[in-house]
Amino acid sequence: MNELEDLEQQLSQLERLSKILEPDHEKRKHLLEKVGNYSETFLENIDNKVAYLSTEDKGSALLEDPIKEEGTNIDQLLSLIEKNVDRPGLNPASGGHIAFIPGGGLYPSALGDYLADISNRYSGVFYANPGAVRMENMLIKWMCQLFGYEEGAGGNLCSGGSMANLIAIVTARNYKMIKGVDLSRTVIYSTQQAHHCTRKSILIAGLGETILRNIPMDDCFRMDTKSLRKQILSDKNDGLKPFMIIASAGTTDTGAIDPLDEIGKLAQKENLWFHVDAAYGGFFILCDRGKKKLKGIEKADSIVVDPHKGLFLPYGSGAVLIKDVKNLYRAHHMQANYMQDSFEEIEELSPADLSPELTKPFRGLRMWLPLKLFGLAPFRAALEEKILLCQYFYQNLLTFKYVEIGPFPELSVLIYRFIPPDQEANIYNLELVEKVKEEGSVFISSTTIDNKIYLRVAILCFRTHKQTLDKYLKVLKKITQ
Ligand SMILES: *Cc1c(COP(=O)(O)O)cnc(C)c1O
Repeated sequence: MNELEDLEQQLSQLERLSKILEPDHEKRKHLLEKVGNYSETFLENIDNKVAYLSTEDKGSALLEDPIKEEGTNIDQLLSLIEKNVDRPGLNPASGGHIAFIPGGGLYPSALGDYLADISNRYSGVFYANPGAVRMENMLIKWMCQLFGYEEGAGGNLCSGGSMANLIAIVTARNYKMIKGVDLSRTVIYSTQQAHHCTRKSILIAGLGETILRNIPMDDCFRMDTKSLRKQILSDKNDGLKPFMIIASAGTTDTGAIDPLDEIGKLAQKENLWFHVDAAYGGFFILCDRGKKKLKGIEKADSIVVDPHKGLFLPYGSGAVLIKDVKNLYRAHHMQANYMQDSFEEIEELSPADLSPELTKPFRGLRMWLPLKLFGLAPFRAALEEKILLCQYFYQNLLTFKYVEIGPFPELSVLIYRFIPPDQEANIYNLELVEKVKEEGSVFISSTTIDNKIYLRVAILCFRTHKQTLDKYLKVLKKITQ
């Protein structure tokens, strides 16, 4: 056999085996039907499933089934997923998930992901897949307008709020030209209630040596602007370099919104970068109640929102919006020779020039499809419903004994604790979380503020309705009263 024949024979063998990667029409139909049936069973039973399931194994059977040379049939694999992935722990798709900040999981988003994965459109660069980039840019523009940004604003669809905060903070650092020699004189202002990912971003962005000031808060955990002003002026007097204010529009602990309008004016006057982390609270701007509370957000130089929270998308969707997109571009744009074919197009900005990512999932479709399919009205209604549900819970709690309730909910998060006459309150409340988790109807979380353990409800899953809270109130009454 000559060398060429030998190669042909090898190739034909390899092709036969590698073609397993391309199931034919019948096999695809079979797989889709199986996966479709599985998701239908999951969704049809979602209301009967517990929000949290504690199991001994914690999905460990996955480890007993390692990756092998030969394939496994789809029924066996779905059963592995069912037992080991979709059963133990928290069920984030459940309306009973009222802990941390709940996510979503809109059905058309799954279909959008499916379509995006099948065609594998490349949404990193306009030149490659202009339609995909246009769709993402259109969604970003829609969000910019929603938050009162004018022409010239832009942003990026990224994986979540943490990544979005990092992109914003890097942009601010670049715009303000913070250099290594400046770090120890540079000051960032925030509150103790800001999300921990902003501190993480500060570290990752190389700003760990800056001075981070926790500005005092009012009784409702909102940044006190008087103290902020005083601190900035005193820092200036001391020869320091005030750089950035990080405000929260919906803190994780209590849903508090810092006074955005006042902070925005101050930032402008003192020439500081004004960043608003609205990962949780931002999309409440879609309903009138929320819109009033977010007044002043348009003054921010950068805003973070999480479509996988307030727009009920599945995990993996965050967004950063920058008032002057040029600053985002300057902080994230880089050239390379092998990218030379993609340079000439400037009709639309390319996501690859606006974030750390080059190749990325086509995230636009999972957001565009539900927004287009359902229209905005049901989103507005669901968000208003979440605010009112939290107030409903608050009003009901007032009828309980031994309860201490935090500030009236600004959005859809409420803290509260029980102080029974004969037990240590912190221990009692921690045990209460465990008891609620064990019962399983709902999944709640706790937090510590001033050394006191508080329980939280955070209502944001689109599947959470009055019935969910009635169920929880009943459980809570049984345990505590
Ligand atoms: C959820 C949240 C974040 C972090 O976002 P991820 O999407 O979890 O990365 C940041 N800030 C606030 C206020 C949040 O609620």
